[in-house]
Amino acid sequence: MNIHEYQAKELLRRYGVAVLDGHVAWTPEEAEAAAKKLPGPVYVVKSQIHAGGRGAGRFADDPNGKGGVRVVKSVEDVKAAATAMIGHTLVTKQTGAQGKVVSRVYVEDGCDIKRELYLGLLVDRATSRITVMASTEGGMEIEEVAEHQPEKILKVAVDPASGLSGFHCRKLAFGLGLTGKQVGSFTKFVTALYGAFLELDCAIVEINPLVVTGAGEIVALDAKISFDDNALFRHKDLEALRDDSEMDPKELEAVKNDLNYVALDGEIGCMVNGAGLAMATMDIIKLYGSSPANFLDVGGTATADRVTEAFRIITSDANVKAILVNIFGGIAKCDMIATGVVQAAKNLTLKVPLVVRLEGTNVALGKQILAESGLAIIPADNLADAAEKVVNAVKKAA
Ligand code: ADP
Ligand code: MG
Repeated sequence: MNIHEYQAKELLRRYGVAVLDGHVAWTPEEAEAAAKKLPGPVYVVKSQIHAGGRGAGRFADDPNGKGGVRVVKSVEDVKAAATAMIGHTLVTKQTGAQGKVVSRVYVEDGCDIKRELYLGLLVDRATSRITVMASTEGGMEIEEVAEHQPEKILKVAVDPASGLSGFHCRKLAFGLGLTGKQVGSFTKFVTALYGAFLELDCAIVEINPLVVTGAGEIVALDAKISFDDNALFRHKDLEALRDDSEMDPKELEAVKNDLNYVALDGEIGCMVNGAGLAMATMDIIKLYGSSPANFLDVGGTATADRVTEAFRIITSDANVKAILVNIFGGIAKCDMIATGVVQAAKNLTLKVPLVVRLEGTNVALGKQILAESGLAIIPADNLADAAEKVVNAVKKAA
């Protein structure tokens, strides 16, 4: 789960991470009131969307205008900037061409920036440790730095048993060229951030840019947090930070029904049990010359109701031209899956071809249920057969 910058900063502030003063505003009037609470005379108005690159982004209705992060010098200009942002669609490198509608802005104290650095914490699967990454190339996308100047990225992996130590912080601080009191400020910052990362079960925390101020303080100017969804049950209060409007509606439905669903832009809707089989199914669809409209893992405990829900989500996608059900019946028996498929196909009056490949426990009974359903279900015997049949069904329908 991702959250907005202003929410991330509020959380980080509680853990002692240095952030500037600021207030969220849903209307230009609220933005004006927010600015009056800040010392001034420099304010920054920041569009709040779940995507980076806002500063360099442009508004769809004003492509030659200013970006989604604006530095202004009066309360009136704060209001004007908020008016230009709220309710308007911001297009950045990360939003895709359709952009995202800004529903709120963050009005923040202006910062005296001396240097812009990068700091990121993530769980590195290769070492099974939290890795702290830092770079002098702040403000840029770290993926680009990694590709073109990998030597500019400093990394330390933290042993979970002993935790983050002063030497980790000093190693990064000296690598970044920090001096004097900046080193202490950096150590305090990273230590607090690491504490927040652990406590909140984060997957990624990215501070880009991390700033050295004119006074030599280290401050977070931007903050991005992604939580580990598997640990969210331990943080009921964080659920309230979820912004449903930032999610694909189909993905939102899936979360509510405990389905692992990722929307993609292909034409074949996939319903599969098990993540590995789902990946293999997507691969083989590609191999046969088409592309998947989604990744969907109905899980090991696929029931008739979940199958129906999965069908509802798949068929709500206008790009879907055919559906491939590929289920390996283990605990979820094939006859039960077949019953669910038939029930869903009848309830939803499917308008696209449906190919079903079943294998495993009670497969004969499952196939019999499909055959006797009176529905135009195309049965398949194995993965390759299923992929070929579903791709052909799309071609035939076109
Ligand atoms: P994004 O990464 O989405 O473009 P940032 O929050 O990183 O958004 O802001 C973009 C740039 O705007 C920063 O690199 C920084 O130069 C400037 N900026 C952001 N917040 C402030 C602030 N409070 N004071 C001064 N400049 C800021
Ligand atoms: Mg940024």
